[in-house]
Amino acid sequence: MKKIYFTVGPSQIYPTLPKHLSEALKQDIPSLNHRGADFKKLYSDLDSNLKKLLGIPKNYEIFFTSSALEAMERTILGTVEKNSYHIITGSFGKAWAKYAEELGKQVIKFEVDLSDLSVIRNSDFIDTPNFLKSELICITQNDTSTGIQIPMEEIYFLKKKYPEKLIAIDVVSSIPYVDIDYSKIDITFFSVQKGFGLPAGLGIMVVSPNALKKTKRLKDKGMSIGSYHSLLNLSEKYKSFQTPETPNVLNIFLLNKVCLDLLKKGIQNVRKETDKKYDIISTFFNNHPKFSHSVKDERYRSRTTIVINTSGETQKIKQSLSKQGFEIGAGYGENKDTQLRIANFPTQNLSDLKKLLNLF
Ligand SMILES: *Cc1c(COP(=O)(O)O)cnc(C)c1O
Repeated sequence: MKKIYFTVGPSQIYPTLPKHLSEALKQDIPSLNHRGADFKKLYSDLDSNLKKLLGIPKNYEIFFTSSALEAMERTILGTVEKNSYHIITGSFGKAWAKYAEELGKQVIKFEVDLSDLSVIRNSDFIDTPNFLKSELICITQNDTSTGIQIPMEEIYFLKKKYPEKLIAIDVVSSIPYVDIDYSKIDITFFSVQKGFGLPAGLGIMVVSPNALKKTKRLKDKGMSIGSYHSLLNLSEKYKSFQTPETPNVLNIFLLNKVCLDLLKKGIQNVRKETDKKYDIISTFFNNHPKFSHSVKDERYRSRTTIVINTSGETQKIKQSLSKQGFEIGAGYGENKDTQLRIANFPTQNLSDLKKLLNLF
């Protein structure tokens, strides 16, 4: 039986993906020479379509990595001389900080107390000496492990107060829903198997001129900023819409096609639909006799990855739903048996959502 995926990643494929895949084969995309004019045109098209869709400024550069985890490493290597500051609301933020430590940086971790998220809004942690000396602030805007989102206004607030610090955000499980003013963010990254409904194995980095200046300064100081995928190498290649390595051309082709689909639909409509589905999920679990939202404070509750407490019934529920054709996510890590995670990406449609909720 063909399943419907409400898993948070990889997720349900975008509905037009089969059509685009067969188009790719018809056009021999897997054999496309990545040094040729057709690839340059594809990269250039994706660059302008993604910028149009997401509202990315023209002078920002868009790079390909193997995935989001690689982008975490590139961000640290490319922009941090000594200190990085990490606001941690879950396992993905924790992983990012760990990679920075493994790269030899002095890492300052601000682990948010999950039972009192207002500390982000109150910004108690800024103005501390550790914060003041940090060069880069790393923020998991939507941590898929806990279902906690940090509203963009709180991130802009940091940039406004400390414009000289670089800010990097992980939006893997909130893009393309999350509405970002990129002029206030230096590095944004995501992979494509969540909100875009594509096969895994492609990461996207959106990098500001300021971040690129910093990487140049580190290089001039004689620091290692990485090798073939250093931000500098990526940037030099980008100027002629080329990549250092042989890239995932098939997935780049598919991402461009899905961008065009989303442009046709209109990003505002995509966001409205997501909000509407979120309201349905949110109300449903607010009123459920047995299951409840893990993130109580709605301001910080993710709109795209909803985490539900199951009082230990996760496996039972998952199995039962699976028999009825629906796959949903278990809790992350230690919450594997006590929570469920439900994706609310553009690819999950309202009628499937209603069917899924009916089964609860
Ligand atoms: C899934 C996920 C990642 C990792 O993505 P990969 O494609 O596996 O590298 C990073 N951050 C967040 C928030 C995620 O949800």
